[in-house]
Amino acid sequence: MTGSCALLESSGNRPTKIMIDCGLFQGQRFMEDRNLNPFPFESKTIDAVLVTHAHLDHIGRIPKLVKEGFAGKIYSTAATKDLSRLMLFDSLNVMRRQVEEKTEKLVYKESDIDAGMKQWEGLNYHEEFEIGDFKINFRDAGHILGSSIIEVFYGKKKIVFTGDLGNSPTPLLRSTEKVENADFLIIETTYGNREHEGKAERKVKLERIIEDTMRLGGVLMIPAFSIERTQELLFELNDLAENRRIPEVPIFVDSPLAIGAVEIYKKYDDYFNKEAKYIMDSGDDLFKFPGLRFTKTTEESKQINEVPPPKVIIAGSGMSTGGRIPHHERRYLPDPKSTLLLISYQVSGSLGRQLEDGAKEVNILGETVPVRARIVTLPGYSAHPDENGLFEFVENNYKTLEKVFAIQSEPKSSLFFVQLIRDHLGIDTIAPKYGDSFELEVE
Ligand SMILES: [Zn+2]
Repeated sequence: MTGSCALLESSGNRPTKIMIDCGLFQGQRFMEDRNLNPFPFESKTIDAVLVTHAHLDHIGRIPKLVKEGFAGKIYSTAATKDLSRLMLFDSLNVMRRQVEEKTEKLVYKESDIDAGMKQWEGLNYHEEFEIGDFKINFRDAGHILGSSIIEVFYGKKKIVFTGDLGNSPTPLLRSTEKVENADFLIIETTYGNREHEGKAERKVKLERIIEDTMRLGGVLMIPAFSIERTQELLFELNDLAENRRIPEVPIFVDSPLAIGAVEIYKKYDDYFNKEAKYIMDSGDDLFKFPGLRFTKTTEESKQINEVPPPKVIIAGSGMSTGGRIPHHERRYLPDPKSTLLLISYQVSGSLGRQLEDGAKEVNILGETVPVRARIVTLPGYSAHPDENGLFEFVENNYKTLEKVFAIQSEPKSSLFFVQLIRDHLGIDTIAPKYGDSFELEVE
């Protein structure tokens, strides 16, 4: 899991080498030490890099690749390019702080991002292009803004890299595009052993949680991922606020990264689904409604404290492992009138998980904090498809598939999914390990 990076090489006299994604390894810590290890290939021999989407586990080592001599072009959708710039600079800041604390080394510098951006070409979906022996096409993955499924054509064969697929339908984005006739499929199976629940009721529940907390005069804290989750939440809040289904209270988006991403979402509203696009076109800015305030600077963020409750605060990180949410949690978790709303998966060991598991006391920013606020979990906000969604994606290619590679998930999840595909569809499926390589027969 994480550090997504695949190298596809054609045979022949002058082989073409393309890389699909080049992500950061992220575990308990934001940046793991192995990001500093040399690549197991020569960076300068790669012809091009294709990027599925702007999450760090898919783009985080691109500047390192550039630093080490990769001089070819980088291709993605235009929105992915813009979001990637934002993400890479943001993660550089986080890494700098980590380096200061623990005398580690940086994976890349500012100038490596700038150089990478110069090599980067932003395209539209379905704008076919060629790199050496390969023909490439991007399709909408419906995972985050700009996310793509990458189709690679070689001779008569089609190789498909799914990247992360979406949990369609979603409020803002178009649904995951159907892909058929793939011969080889490299599929990310993050939640290949899970079924999502609660999508239908989540908005009603959100409304109720806001009403309850506001009636008590408390603070509703929502730790949220900066890209997609925050914008999805704002889309739903926009509707609730404008139809007066929730009281008019201050709603703070307290995350520079999320605020930067909102600007990019507005720029690419062509990528939205029909309903969301229609609302935008009819003059309703989805990211502007009574009570909504963006607090970008540290100064603005601190002023949130001055605003008396009731209020809503949305901030990163999604698992309370960094960002600005811990500051608010430290202040308001001891308050029995307040609520912490968890809408993301909370990984074991994270502060968010401790709270989800009912801890009565937690350590936040070096302080022991008693937990008296209500902790509520609201499922249904996953950005990944579940077992059924993934299975359906494979099944659509049933007639042509020769081999399926299940990647980017915990062993338990990928092994479950491998078995599922073998048993039900009888297709040769494996879960490769880091560093494995395979030959694909294309005759
Ligand atoms: Zn992703």
